Amino acid sequence: MTHPFDLSGKVALVTGANTGIGQAIALALAEAGADVALAGRSRAEETLTGVRRLGRKGCIIEADLSTTEPVSGVVAQALAELGGLDILVNNAGIIRRNDAIDFTEADWDAVIDTNLKTLFFLSQTAARHMIAQGSGKIINIASMLSFQGGVRVPSYTASKSGVAGLTKALANEWAAKGLNVNAIAPGYIATNNTAALQEDEVRNRQIMERIPAGRWGAASDIGGAAVFLASSASDYVNGHVLAVDGGWLAR
Ligand code: NAP
Repeated sequence: MTHPFDLSGKVALVTGANTGIGQAIALALAEAGADVALAGRSRAEETLTGVRRLGRKGCIIEADLSTTEPVSGVVAQALAELGGLDILVNNAGIIRRNDAIDFTEADWDAVIDTNLKTLFFLSQTAARHMIAQGSGKIINIASMLSFQGGVRVPSYTASKSGVAGLTKALANEWAAKGLNVNAIAPGYIATNNTAALQEDEVRNRQIMERIPAGRWGAASDIGGAAVFLASSASDYVNGHVLAVDGGWLAR
């Protein structure tokens, strides 16, 4: 019998896989058996080496996802180089910090375009292929700010709250077509994205004191949830936003 978490023979496409959470997810999927296409604006050489070391196939797709321009090419390249597409992980994302009163239109658009608009159109393009094959797994990377307001990150909060809503909307349309659309909401994970918070002594202490697990998360803490949502173990899980947060939301 096949193990329900086994991803052998599956092809995954992970955006923003050169570092942080995207890199950890790509390696976790490869460890579970998937071949992995690594799409992003920085070449994910280190991740590709890791995927190959695990005995899987991988490829790098260079794409600046701040606009939707590369979207159809990204999906086409993954299909051409790895011969299929079963799992899409929409991980690439950015954050801009400023007081709401001073927040610029440029910082609003940049975050919404990368975190929400490209995520939607990449999902749409991948789903056209997945619906045709009758199966597929789409995993969006949400945030604690899919549930909460945050401080000084209005466009990020809007984008990630949008990601949570969109995850449910797409699940409603595509579940009957064999697709599972879900999201992972990471808590406070030590990556480039949170470097400013980690370096701010006061915010760092406030955050640590609120996390029941008593530590920042590591990017690798997200891998297991991604494998679950990419595998047949989650075939009856639709439109869920899974918090992986050391208990932050439970507080
Ligand atoms: P990260 O280390 O900054 O990684 C972000 C990834 O997105 C990088 O690979 C980055 O590429 C890529 N990216 C950004 N803009 C892009 C663009 N225009 N085109 C292509 N790729 C682009 O941060 P992370 O923490 O791993 O973040 C990954 C995801 O998790 C994001 O969606 C973030 O919002 C979310 N998240 C993080 C946390 C946390 O605590 N760290 C919590 C909740 C949610 P470059 O390296 O080239 O910039």
